Amino acid sequence: MTKKRIITIDGPSGAGKSTVARLLADSLGFQYLDTGALYRAVALYLRRYGVSEDVTGETLTRLLKGLDTGFSEGRVFINGEDVSEAIRTPEIGHYSSVFSARRPVREFLFAIQRAYPEKYDTVVEGRDMGTVVFPEAWMKFFLDASQQERARRRYLQLVQKGIVVTMEEALKDVQQRDERDSCRELAPLRQARDAVYIDTTSMGIEETIKKMLEFLIGNG
Ligand code: C5P
Repeated sequence: MTKKRIITIDGPSGAGKSTVARLLADSLGFQYLDTGALYRAVALYLRRYGVSEDVTGETLTRLLKGLDTGFSEGRVFINGEDVSEAIRTPEIGHYSSVFSARRPVREFLFAIQRAYPEKYDTVVEGRDMGTVVFPEAWMKFFLDASQQERARRRYLQLVQKGIVVTMEEALKDVQQRDERDSCRELAPLRQARDAVYIDTTSMGIEETIKKMLEFLIGNG
């Protein structure tokens, strides 16, 4: 079988990765994998067991043995249940960032993520796609934006979903997640050396995708 092409998109919370990754995949006829959704699904599953931040590694390993999770056609599942909406709360956002720093969680999802693009060309998005999970990817991007702009986008996203949140809370959430995602020991958020950096602070989605397609055409 010919090797499948993988495009990685990494970057901090609220940089626009999900929308851009989905649309880029559509325009290229690639599959799309949102790995943040998998971390959120794990967080939701653990929270249903009442797991808190100071949980031991042994407990995490034991509980994860009972979890079958996956991402398919834009939906995420835990043990067959579609949790695509349930994972999008600020609480699960917080816990996904907390639990994603733990080794049993990262190892559990590493294998699932690696297996995903075996059959299809895929756009994968997350924090460590280009650095850890797919270092051999065909093309890598790092999407960024100012903290203020990312907080504004997060705020609008949550309000649109009917979730009550203030702009200050959205900014605090973005700041805390940046700090946690960048400073953790395992797979910290970092731009891969061979990734194309795009600052989307004053760019719309279409402009961002256009820029990415230009790089892809130049590369391919
Ligand atoms: O992208 P999203 O905000 O949905 O991701 C939720 C959390 O999952 C992030 O804050 C991050 O801590 C974690 N994550 C990760 N590695 C990835 C994707 C997400 O650690 N590849």
